[in-house]
Amino acid sequence: MHEAIFIAAKNRGNMSIETVLNKINDIEDWQEELYIELHQNPELSMQETETAATITKRLQQFGYEVEQIGGGVVGVLRNGEGPTVLYRADIDALPVKEATGLPYASTKTMIDRQGNEVPVMHACGHDLHIVAGLGAAALLADSCDEWSGTYIALFQPAEETAEGARSMVNDGLVDRIPKPDVALSQHVLTKPEAGKVGTTAGPVLSTAASMRITVYGKGSHGSMPHLGIDPIVLASSIVLRLQPIISREVNPFEMAVVTVGSIHSGTKANIIPAEAELQLNIRAYSEQVRDQIIAAIKRVVNAECEASNATAPAKIEVFDEYPLTNNDPEVNERVTAAMIKYLGADRVEKLDPVTASEDFSIVPTAFGVPYTYWGFGGFTPDQQVFPNHNPAFGPAMQPTLRTGTEAATVAVLSYLAK
Ligand SMILES: [Zn+2]
Ligand SMILES: [Zn+2]
Repeated sequence: MHEAIFIAAKNRGNMSIETVLNKINDIEDWQEELYIELHQNPELSMQETETAATITKRLQQFGYEVEQIGGGVVGVLRNGEGPTVLYRADIDALPVKEATGLPYASTKTMIDRQGNEVPVMHACGHDLHIVAGLGAAALLADSCDEWSGTYIALFQPAEETAEGARSMVNDGLVDRIPKPDVALSQHVLTKPEAGKVGTTAGPVLSTAASMRITVYGKGSHGSMPHLGIDPIVLASSIVLRLQPIISREVNPFEMAVVTVGSIHSGTKANIIPAEAELQLNIRAYSEQVRDQIIAAIKRVVNAECEASNATAPAKIEVFDEYPLTNNDPEVNERVTAAMIKYLGADRVEKLDPVTASEDFSIVPTAFGVPYTYWGFGGFTPDQQVFPNHNPAFGPAMQPTLRTGTEAATVAVLSYLAK
């Protein structure tokens, strides 16, 4: 099926992609305005109601059939015979206090799902993803003579908490929209530089999981350790004993990370507390290695609890699980070839695998279709670069918006162009 489409597209030649890209100047003004509006109004994961309303309104204006599904928005544009292509953008922001110094910096706060007021910032650039996705949707809608098939513009909530793609699938996504032949997505990154894209075949983003572990000792006066069981010493032993999982148990040819990102216990110097809580983050490039690490962590925790004579078995919870993002080689080859042809070879680089994680692949996996995911640059060479999630993460509005829009449009049209 894919081979056939590929050959057909090759033989036809794709002058029409140039025609579509030439219209990008016409949408730049509203794109920049909307970007600033969204940047100043970020919303936390699974609370993206205004963002979803804005996206819905725009897609309807462009002439899409629009449905809200599982907190996200899907626009469908049916344009005759041909393949069906799904392009996905994530839309949520983070509980981060913006420190970019930009004139359009967010000063917004929200009440999070735990009931706390927190600052909110688009610190991962999902506002760029929304506007690039809407830009591509507008260009496609305005160029129906140049392509044929069905285009699905999917806007997904809660990427940052690994909930959004599952939420859409659980809300019936697969039965509510046409089945795509291929799924595409992209992310703004600090590398390559602004104006360029980076693509790769195979594993591109790691699988991830987080763990919350509570261990139980026995409280006592700080001067009388023999009458208690110290959960801080127990938790400390666990932290050290986790390190050799990576260095001694995982195959040296496999990428693997275990980080203890949080450890909490006690209130005062002279009190031995009754319990301690650890939060861990795990990354790997295969699901097997991730499962191996989680099993090893459980074994170490249980053994250390026994060694310390803990008063109860540890409570171990796995959360924020992300699948591996593993680009289909054929899809990547086709999209990369189109980007080289229409953006220029000097704007397309090979993307090095990233240890970050994504829930995008849950969508194509639910349909059983191949996908590819690429990066586009957000920082010009004269800018100071801050990584995604940093309070100072401030991508250059241009050429970043334009590049994201071009990349999405070219990738989609590499399947749909006449
Ligand atoms: Zn992100
Ligand atoms: Zn992020």
